[in-house]
Amino acid sequence: MTANPTAGNANRIYRFPTATLLLFIFLFPRAVPVPAQEFELLLKGGHVIDPKNHIDDRMDVAIAKGKITAIARDIPAGRAVKMIDVTGLYVTPGLIDLHTHVFVGTRDGFADGFSSVSPDDITLKAGITTVVDAGTSGWRNFPEFKRNMIDRSTTRILAFLNIAGLGMTGFPSEEDVNDMDARMTALVIGQYPGIIVGVKIGHYRGSEWTPFDRALEAGKIANVPLFVECHLPQLPLEGILERMRPGDIYTHSFCTAVDRTCLLDDQFRVRPYVWDALKKGIRFDLGHGGGMFHFSIAVPAFSQGFLPNSFGTDLHRFSMNSGMKNMLDIMSKYLNMGMTIEDIIFRATWNSAVTIKREDLGNLGEGAVADLAVLRIRTGNFGFVDAAGYKLEGDRRLEAELTIREGKVVWDQNGLAARALKDTVKH
Ligand SMILES: [Zn+2]
Repeated sequence: MTANPTAGNANRIYRFPTATLLLFIFLFPRAVPVPAQEFELLLKGGHVIDPKNHIDDRMDVAIAKGKITAIARDIPAGRAVKMIDVTGLYVTPGLIDLHTHVFVGTRDGFADGFSSVSPDDITLKAGITTVVDAGTSGWRNFPEFKRNMIDRSTTRILAFLNIAGLGMTGFPSEEDVNDMDARMTALVIGQYPGIIVGVKIGHYRGSEWTPFDRALEAGKIANVPLFVECHLPQLPLEGILERMRPGDIYTHSFCTAVDRTCLLDDQFRVRPYVWDALKKGIRFDLGHGGGMFHFSIAVPAFSQGFLPNSFGTDLHRFSMNSGMKNMLDIMSKYLNMGMTIEDIIFRATWNSAVTIKREDLGNLGEGAVADLAVLRIRTGNFGFVDAAGYKLEGDRRLEAELTIREGKVVWDQNGLAARALKDTVKH
């Protein structure tokens, strides 16, 4: 005999007295079928800023199977397996950092990419879900980068491929024009569509244009943008900007006045040919790094209406503990300089996605990958430091409360997604 009343005869129907049924439900609540919750996660009550979809309002965001499934003013909590109350916080697409160095590899037993860092150590706690590596690898060692870091990180890693075959392995390989091969670079870019999103040129000390032109040629063949670092001391800025095509990216936009690559003249006015480049469609990334962001340039540029298209950090071992800190610190600098939070989020998300032609990222449209940041603006007395050691004082600082990558909580500063202790501790 069995205790199961329906076992052995599907046609027999047992009718329980109501009191017995209620007792059964009380004792075994999980045995009673309930309508399945259609969402895995619901962010409730936050202020959503999604510039691509023109959303700047209090909204609920529902997530299922790693995708955004609904955004509406009031989604009932009962429709989700888990609800997180994000009242008073900003809910944005996951931030995109366009300038990082995250190829930590080995070559012949020695560390390669000597100043690179593992992105997950830094990014997730700053609301960043996507980074672009700025040419730490070239066509020869990109497969190792892919294997070692890209395939193993929680952070989505994309890359600009260095025109130097071995990427940033220092002198002399970065100066070797013979190993700057446009065709091979374009070929490898073609093997990783959407992952390699551009070509990088930088760190070349010679005065001839050959490396620059080869990088440009690779970009043309592969139909991807060129990412230009200003470590090209012999090449004039005006000529660089003239050669660049609409959609190409110039980084380290606010380096010092004494640097001949500075975008401002000695009267701290944005140079006319820089305005022309902007009109032509060149995109200017911030590229803070350890020594490449100066308030003495950024503040006058800001007051003239010259703004970075993106807030690339130039993350590496020597910048992460300097005035740069992380991308939220850079965004906070602009918040305190007077940029609106909506404009900051636009540049840190959708505008960055457009720059790298990854319009599937940087937005919260229905069906988009559920990469999100939940941010808080803290108020108080704060200081923000530039590469020259100058401090901007401010009263607001952005912090990441939650970071969500493909629908999973990967950073939770204050346990918003965690269970309350009182629910688990037996008294
Ligand atoms: Zn860099």
